[in-house]
Amino acid sequence: MSNPRRKNQWQDLDRDSTIAWQGRCLHRYLSDCVVPFSLHYQRIFKERGLTAADIRTVADLKKLPFTSKEDLLPTPENPRRTLDYVLKPDPKVLARRPSIILRALLHGRSRVHDELDREWRPIFMTSTTGRSTEPVPFLYTQHDIAHMGLGSGRIVEMGGVKSDERMVNMFPFAPHLAFWYMYYSGIDRNVFALATGGGKVMGTEGNLRAVQKLKPQILVAMPTFLYHVLQQAVEQKLRLEGIRLLVLGGDKVPDGTRRKLAELCAQVGSPDVRVMVTYGFTEAKFAWSECPVAPGTSSPGYHLYADQGIIEIINPDTGEVVPDGTGGEIVWTPLDQRGTVVLRYRTGDRCEHGITWEPCPCCGRRLPRICGKISRVSDVHALRFQKVKGTIVDFNELERALDDLPGIGAWQIELRKAHDDPLDLDELNVHVTPAGSGNASSLESSVRELLHSHFELTPNQIVTHTDAEMRTLQKVGVALKEQKVVDNRPKSDAPRT
Ligand SMILES: [Zn+2]
Repeated sequence: MSNPRRKNQWQDLDRDSTIAWQGRCLHRYLSDCVVPFSLHYQRIFKERGLTAADIRTVADLKKLPFTSKEDLLPTPENPRRTLDYVLKPDPKVLARRPSIILRALLHGRSRVHDELDREWRPIFMTSTTGRSTEPVPFLYTQHDIAHMGLGSGRIVEMGGVKSDERMVNMFPFAPHLAFWYMYYSGIDRNVFALATGGGKVMGTEGNLRAVQKLKPQILVAMPTFLYHVLQQAVEQKLRLEGIRLLVLGGDKVPDGTRRKLAELCAQVGSPDVRVMVTYGFTEAKFAWSECPVAPGTSSPGYHLYADQGIIEIINPDTGEVVPDGTGGEIVWTPLDQRGTVVLRYRTGDRCEHGITWEPCPCCGRRLPRICGKISRVSDVHALRFQKVKGTIVDFNELERALDDLPGIGAWQIELRKAHDDPLDLDELNVHVTPAGSGNASSLESSVRELLHSHFELTPNQIVTHTDAEMRTLQKVGVALKEQKVVDNRPKSDAPRT
C-alpha cells in the first residue's frame, strides 16, 4: 500500500499492508523524534538495552513497557514529571540531518529555523480532568494543532457536514481536549461553527438563544448538558428546526440517552436526527467517532486513524495483546506527534469487542474500528467500583442501566452516610425526573425494581424532581460537567479502593 496519509486514503486501508506500513512509520518516528529527544524514553530504551533499530514492526512494540497514568503524576522529587515526556530537539542534531541541510539550501536558513520552531516548540496545552489525582498537562506544537484539525475534520467529514451548514459546539470551555478538538474541526473543514463554551459560560438559556439565532444543522455537546438544553426548549415550547446531527462526547452515551435526545429534537421540530458519538482522551490528543446512526441502530464502533497512531487491545491482567475482535484495555501509541508524547499508553478504558478491520457496515469505510461498549475509567473517577451497603457496585453499569431505563428523564445518584457519620451505614438516594409526561410513582417503582434485580441494591430514597430542580442538583451551568453521581459521604471515610 502506498502512504495512507494521502488525503483520501485514511478511510480505505487493508489490514495487513497498513500494519506493515505502521511498523515502518513507528520505526522512523522513534528513531527521528522520540529516542533522540524524549528524556523519559531515552532512559527506557537505555535501561532495556534497546535502540530504535529494535522496533521495526507493530508487533515489536511489545518490547517496550507500557506507560500508565501513574507514570505521569508528579512526585515530590519530580513535580514537573510530564516535562520528561516532551520532545526537546537538540538543534545541533537537527542541523546535521541531511533533510534539514537540504531544506536550508533550498529555502534559506531563517525560513527553516522558523519551520523547525513551529514544528517542535510547544505553544498550547490541554490537561486531564482528574478529580482523584492532579491534572496532567499535555503540550502541543503547531504540528499537533494541525493534527487536531485533521482528526476532528475527519469526524465532520464522516458526519457528512457540508460547507453551507452550521455547527454549534457546546462543549465546556476549558483546557480540555473535547472543546478544542471540535473547535478546530470547523476551521479545518471551513465550516461555520460557534463554540458557546457550554453551560458554565452561557447557561442553558444562552445556549438555547445561540441555537435559535444560528439555526445550526449540527449540535456538538456532552450528552447530559444537551439533554438539559433540549428539555428546556421543550418546556419553553421553542421550535428548533433543521437539526440533523448530534455529535456527542465527553461521557458515555447509552442507547437510552440517544433515544431521549432524538425524541427531544423531534419535539422541538427536528425529527430523524442522527447521532454520532466520539471517543478520545487527553493523552492521545485525538478523538475518534462512530459514523452517524439513527437511535436504536447498534453502534458501528469508533473509526480509528491508522495513519496517526496505533491502538493495541491488551488483556489488562497479563498485558498480552489480544487478537482482533477480542475485548480488552485500550492502549495508544502515536506515529507523528510532537510536544508531550507517550508510548504504549494504558488508558484503563475497556472495550467490549476489541478491534475489527472489516468494512464499516454503515459507511463502508475500510479502517480499524473499536467495537462494543467502552467502559471509561476517566469518566467515573474514583467511583468505578464502590462498596455501597455491603455490595460492590460497578458504577459504569449502574449509570448505563439508569440511562437506558424507559420513562426516566434525568437522574442523579447520591451516596451519603446515615447521620453524616463516617462510621455509620451507607445510604443511597436516587433523584429522578420522569421523561415527558411520565408518571412519578411508576418511575420510582421501576427504578427500585432495576436497582434491586440488577445490582442487589435497595435505595434509601427515590425522590422525584422537576426538570428545573434536576438542573440545580446536577449543577448545570455551574459545574463544568453535570453531576450524575455525587458522593456526599463525609471525607474521613475509610480509604477508597
Ligand atoms: Zn462507518
